[in-house]
Amino acid sequence: MSRDNQRHYFIVCSVIIEIVTPVFRQRIEKDFKSKRFGCLQDFIDSKPVKHILFHLRFQNKKCCQDSNNCKNLRVLPLNYSQWELLYTENPGPPSKPKHHCHCLYTINNVKLDDFDITLASLILLNCCNLTPNEEESIHKLRSFKNKHLSHNTTGAIPEKEFQILWNDLMTYVLRLDASKQDDFIMIQNRPLDESMCKDYFVRVVDFHKKFEQVSNLFSFLLNQYSMC
Ligand SMILES: [Zn+2]
Ligand SMILES: [Zn+2]
Repeated sequence: MSRDNQRHYFIVCSVIIEIVTPVFRQRIEKDFKSKRFGCLQDFIDSKPVKHILFHLRFQNKKCCQDSNNCKNLRVLPLNYSQWELLYTENPGPPSKPKHHCHCLYTINNVKLDDFDITLASLILLNCCNLTPNEEESIHKLRSFKNKHLSHNTTGAIPEKEFQILWNDLMTYVLRLDASKQDDFIMIQNRPLDESMCKDYFVRVVDFHKKFEQVSNLFSFLLNQYSMC
């Protein structure tokens, strides 16, 4: 496996973590400020947002409030750790025993920096007002991360695939934030840092794929740094 291909993988990791994720967080901030929420917590704790996110996590529920907007999704996109990052369950009021509904949850002390690309994209696509262009860009950027990083068991990206992906990443990021061009150039030109590679790897890979990828990562790092 070529070292260049492994380098491509870490360059794309860097773009996802250092450019795409902050752009997504800033877009959430722009949305809640435009709706006159004073801070992120107020937005995430607002009833419509909490209700939408509740039904992205729990199935088959009929809430005691706002029941016209209840949904019953077959596939639940929000996982437990994402939900628990956002909210804590409280005991229900004695007047409404034995019911499970968004009214039981209160917001945690959550910050935008806690949101990874997956959680940020779920909030953007489900709870924010986006233009069709923005929506497409967010879908595409999230799918690039899943396809080329999270589900990539080799930890490498071939040259041809990398060139197409690089252009696509730039196109869709710049649609969301035109000021990010220099960040792409900086990432492409800088040398790789060992601790950064390890940290980024852990952050982008699906847990069940990690065992397959970990040996690839360490053989790459061994090659990379034994030659320095
Ligand atoms: Zn309730
Ligand atoms: Zn509901």
